[in-house]
Amino acid sequence: MTNTPAAASSDRHSELAAGLARVRTRVADACAAAGRDLGEVSMVAVTKTYPASDVIALVGLGATEVGENRDQEASAKATEVAAAGVTPRWHFIGQLQRNKARSVVRYADVVQSVDSVRLARALDRASATVRDRPLEVFVQVSVDGAGARGGALPGSADPEAGLEPVAEMVAGMDGLRLAGLMAVAPLGWEPERAFARLAEVAAGFRVRHPQATLLSAGMSGDLEVAIRYGATHVRVGSALLGMRSTLR
Ligand SMILES: *Cc1c(COP(=O)(O)O)cnc(C)c1O
Repeated sequence: MTNTPAAASSDRHSELAAGLARVRTRVADACAAAGRDLGEVSMVAVTKTYPASDVIALVGLGATEVGENRDQEASAKATEVAAAGVTPRWHFIGQLQRNKARSVVRYADVVQSVDSVRLARALDRASATVRDRPLEVFVQVSVDGAGARGGALPGSADPEAGLEPVAEMVAGMDGLRLAGLMAVAPLGWEPERAFARLAEVAAGFRVRHPQATLLSAGMSGDLEVAIRYGATHVRVGSALLGMRSTLR
């Protein structure tokens, strides 16, 4: 076979095994502290900036969900990983331009960062032509209502970027399945305050969309708080794979 990625070195493999064990312990402890069942919380391994060999090693160690935030990098990595016969579920978690929709729906099982009606439409159209089953969608919420880190605006009737207009659009499309909400804690907010606010938004959202029960919140630095406030998916990069050299 050509283009098979090199296997991770045995040092790297041990590093990843240790990282995974540490994060699993943190998730289990946070679930126990919150009185939640461990089976309610999935870990998405955020592999951005790291090579396909790391994804393959992590899947070999039992990780099943992988997250990426840039289409060009993700698309190439997903191709390499698939060529090695390895098939995690790919989550796209970054800001997404509409013109990348056709690329993303080819490899992503889930897009967690849908925050506009226009993007939902583009993903639906792409999904309908390329995929044989609906794309899972989390609507990204702007917790501070300002949208600086992306996200639809809770409580806003803005027809393009209001949370409810975006959620209605996703829920009404054949190529998409509304799965839940995603958020990143706003810069300068204590995780406690951010995830408490998110939990309020999610409670209201679930009244209108009872089937959309998932909540993606929490990263390396704040996953315990997110689990306390109901996260079903934590997105963990640096605590698992090491500090990235670039800030993303
Ligand atoms: C990079 C990234 C993460 C992971 O961040 P860490 O702090 O490395 O765990 C989670 N969510 C999003 C949207 C990201 O871009």
